[in-house]
Amino acid sequence: MTSQDYDCIVIGAGVHGSFTAYNLAKKSKKTIILEQFLLPHSRGSSHGQTRIIRKAYDQDYYTHMMHECYELWEQLEKEANVKLHRRTGLLVMAPEHGKDYSALKCSMQRNNVPMVILPREQFSQHIPHVNLSQGNAALVDTTAGVLYADRTLKTVQEQFQKLGGVIKDGQKVIDITPGSVVTVTTSGGVYRAKSLVITAGPWANTLLSHTGLQIPLKVLKINVCYWREKVPGSYNIQHRFPCFIQLGSEEAKHDIYGLPSNEYPGLMKICYHSGSETEPDERDRQTDREDIDILQRYITRCFPGLVPVPAIVESCMYTVTPDLNFVLDQHPIHRNIIIGAGFSGHGFKFGPIVGKLLSELSQEEVPSYDLTPFRIGRFQAHSKSAL
Ligand SMILES: Cc1cc2nc3c(=O)[nH]c(=O)nc-3n(C[C@H](O)[C@H](O)[C@H](O)COP(=O)(O)OP(=O)(O)OC[C@H]3O[C@@H](n4cnc5c(N)ncnc54)[C@H](O)[C@@H]3O)c2cc1C
Repeated sequence: MTSQDYDCIVIGAGVHGSFTAYNLAKKSKKTIILEQFLLPHSRGSSHGQTRIIRKAYDQDYYTHMMHECYELWEQLEKEANVKLHRRTGLLVMAPEHGKDYSALKCSMQRNNVPMVILPREQFSQHIPHVNLSQGNAALVDTTAGVLYADRTLKTVQEQFQKLGGVIKDGQKVIDITPGSVVTVTTSGGVYRAKSLVITAGPWANTLLSHTGLQIPLKVLKINVCYWREKVPGSYNIQHRFPCFIQLGSEEAKHDIYGLPSNEYPGLMKICYHSGSETEPDERDRQTDREDIDILQRYITRCFPGLVPVPAIVESCMYTVTPDLNFVLDQHPIHRNIIIGAGFSGHGFKFGPIVGKLLSELSQEEVPSYDLTPFRIGRFQAHSKSAL
């Protein structure tokens, strides 16, 4: 057993732990990431080739954060000389008179997010091979696009290491002893630091149990489905097919979203924005396929150029809060323990800004944004504190 001292320990080398550690290293803080699996791995929430980036949100605070976040993504691309993002636009389809569509449109107008409204009669001219549902309206967030997820993790972890940061993978954290110096025990050693950041994705509550806190998080298994183009190229990124979100549909209670065919040629990724509950260590024992049935019905009706049977199904996990807002906060008792959790299936795009905010909290700096929507206190009735 070795014992080592740091300014900050970060648990978890997903997108949020990696960006937090990178921000700390930029502040010249001696930082270590402890990761339970050998890197890279595909057992959490940050793996896979792609994610959607967008400014279109109906809550102003997310759009405000994304304004700066786009700049931070570009800075990282320049610094590492790597392309992490490709602009495609995001097609939003939703019931025209539903509250989701009007809230989103108003927020985009209020926050000057560039958009194009597609009148029904011009829809197929702009978006071929898609049937806009009866009673639906459509707009495009022209700032949106695809993020290259696996490449992002590799890049940000490399930049962190270039700044002197240490990553120890294959080191499962098995105990945390809070205090003015926090002690973290892994399968391979004991580490001490002035502050600790817990960014453990689906395992957040397992880690938090060592600190006497539980927050109301649900872990969902997501079936990541790829669908074959009947005519190769119909939904291709090269042909400028956009990402899309379908808010509300006759098939589904939750949203459906997709990305143009790109990473697997001839296959378009379309997923259901929900799943069935799972234990993170037993993800593949969850075999519910109700979401795939929903997607098949939707694709048959709205994406007639795709074979309505998934060609590939991969797995990922969401960790969702009751209000689908993130948790970005200090531990209510142990203020030098910082928690980034509950990213509710939409956190990847915020990686650079979440990293900045969690690093600020860990250094007791005033956070760059109002974190009220992300406080643990909002779950007061639900969160269990044994302290
Ligand atoms: C299918 C799918 C599609 C998505 N699409 C989008 C999208 O289009 N746009 C978007 O913005 N977001 C999207 N998201 C959400 C986004 O990917 C997640 O919000 C984000 O990846 C969460 O990252 P994380 O760092 O919190 O968790 P993780 O990536 O799970 O990282 C947590 C890490 O902690 C480690 N860990 C846990 N316990 C321990 C321990 N005891 N000791 C050491 N290490 C430990 C884990 O092994 C893991 O590596 C999507 C997610 C999924 C699953």
